[in-house]
Amino acid sequence: MMTFIRTFFLFSLTTVFLSVQATELVDIDDPERSYILTNSIAEVEFPLSQEESQFIEALKSKVIELKAAGLAAPQLGVTKSITAFQVPEEALLWREDVTDLMPIMVLINPSYEPVESEGKSLDWEGCFSGKNHYGKIWRYNLIKYKGKDIDGNDVEGEAFGFLARLLQHEIDHCHHKMCIHNYDPDSPHGSQADLMPTRKIEVKQRKRELGLKETDYFPLMKKKNL
Ligand SMILES: [Zn+2]
Repeated sequence: MMTFIRTFFLFSLTTVFLSVQATELVDIDDPERSYILTNSIAEVEFPLSQEESQFIEALKSKVIELKAAGLAAPQLGVTKSITAFQVPEEALLWREDVTDLMPIMVLINPSYEPVESEGKSLDWEGCFSGKNHYGKIWRYNLIKYKGKDIDGNDVEGEAFGFLARLLQHEIDHCHHKMCIHNYDPDSPHGSQADLMPTRKIEVKQRKRELGLKETDYFPLMKKKNL
């Protein structure tokens, strides 16, 4: 009986712990939790534990709830190399380098290699773990990425434009790096609240140049012949 109670208690604790993790974002300016974002992150072993599978579902739910392009596990307090990301239609409100819309996808133990010959682009980036930071960051236009799916199968591919930017951001989280530490020093840098109006003006002007209204989506960018 005691064993049952102890097991039940532990299971309940785990459930509570996971649900707290799954709802609370770690912020880089939180002195008690910021280390989670910058300390080393463990690779995941397969097969996934039940807890890990549940956490991945919670991570995906959080991405959708926040209408985020992506999140990585450390942002929810879990120091494991896992990211969930998507390219929803709303990305076209802000980005003119989206080549494809993409439903939510999970990548485990991810890494990337830049294709340096394709150059870099400078664009705005914020982070759900750095609400007091906002700026522009140079990212490679083309990367080759790889990782595992939830069953441990190898996944690899090439990403261009916004997806390349998104994956560099999220995979960097899995290697304890954040965009806020690499903002372009020659571009404005401040809080999201302060700089969002500047970004909106830039996007509005760009849309006007393309004959679009402020509320229009940018068209999907044509894929390059790679
Ligand atoms: Zn982030």
